Amino acid sequence: MKALVTGGAGFIGGHLVERLLATGHEVMCLDDLSTGRPESLAHLSDTPGFDLVEGTILDADLVDSLAARSDTIFHLAAVVGVELILRRSLKGLRTNLHGTETVLECAHRHGNRALIASTSEVYGRSSDDALSEEQDRVMGSPLTRRWSYAEAKALDETMAHLYWSDRSVRTVIARFFNIAGPRQSSRYGMVIPKFVAQALRNEPLTIYGDGKQTRSFCHVSDALDGITALIGHPEAYGGVFNIGRPEEVSIQRLAERVIALTGSSSIVRHLSYEQAYGDGYEDIPRRVPDITRVRDLVGFDPSRDLDDIIDSVIREQTDTDLSGGVLGSVLPVVPGGLENAHVD
Ligand code: UDP
Repeated sequence: MKALVTGGAGFIGGHLVERLLATGHEVMCLDDLSTGRPESLAHLSDTPGFDLVEGTILDADLVDSLAARSDTIFHLAAVVGVELILRRSLKGLRTNLHGTETVLECAHRHGNRALIASTSEVYGRSSDDALSEEQDRVMGSPLTRRWSYAEAKALDETMAHLYWSDRSVRTVIARFFNIAGPRQSSRYGMVIPKFVAQALRNEPLTIYGDGKQTRSFCHVSDALDGITALIGHPEAYGGVFNIGRPEEVSIQRLAERVIALTGSSSIVRHLSYEQAYGDGYEDIPRRVPDITRVRDLVGFDPSRDLDDIIDSVIREQTDTDLSGGVLGSVLPVVPGGLENAHVD
């Protein structure tokens, strides 16, 4: 494979670049380094077949020239993370819409296969037992900032599907459910690296709301098994697939596990959503994936459970120099919400 990984200095992208190089593929990584961490790729810089290009997916000429030199695009570049989406809503919307359009247009021109990263956010507030790919979406107002991310990703999906059906581009859509693991930054709201960093400092773990909201976390390495298998499977083209692990946990329980596994003396502190994010934030009460489709097609079987995921993040945060840091990047809770937050 000659792969182009957009967002290759990001969390999932960085792991994917590493995996592809280790399995003998050539990799071009395109990243604007706005949130990505190039230091996480430093150890790969001398690897034959690896190229890191600093630039944006909004630069159509650049994306075109890289697509011309590749056969497969993993489109992971996006503005992600609840905190960042709330602070940078317009930038997020524009990047996540126009960037994907640019990538799909280039894939069409050069005949690339394209895996398009989407998100469980597209299901919105739906709190069914297990979310399956065809079910209806339950969305809030388009004027609520949080939903701007889901709206953009949903349109990306529609676009990817139409490039498949109307222009024969071999697209695969992956809906990621709370992917976690080493090297995920806590800076943009992701709860596991944030709780682990708080616990390692013996600071209170900040639970937003009552802590009864649930998520299902999936280790990044399992997620990579899923997407690399899908892009190589002709029956996946034109399809959409949940990528996650259906082990549901409340955020309260997650905090307790993090405290237990770190051996921390931290307590748990509950904050209202207003304290955490300011006005106008809506949380999602429940989120569990149905992974029947991807399991049936490519045998997807995410094996790392929640404790494995937490352990891997603890090991990284106690072990690494990449932190620049992992520990240093926890944003303090800002009184009065995000409007008072320092941005970038
Ligand atoms: N959360 C929390 N404390 C934090 C960060 C997040 O209680 O310091 C909660 C958040 O409100 C949500 C869950 O943890 O209910 C997962 O948040 P994250 O931002 O990781 O992912 P998403 O909301 O996109 O699923």
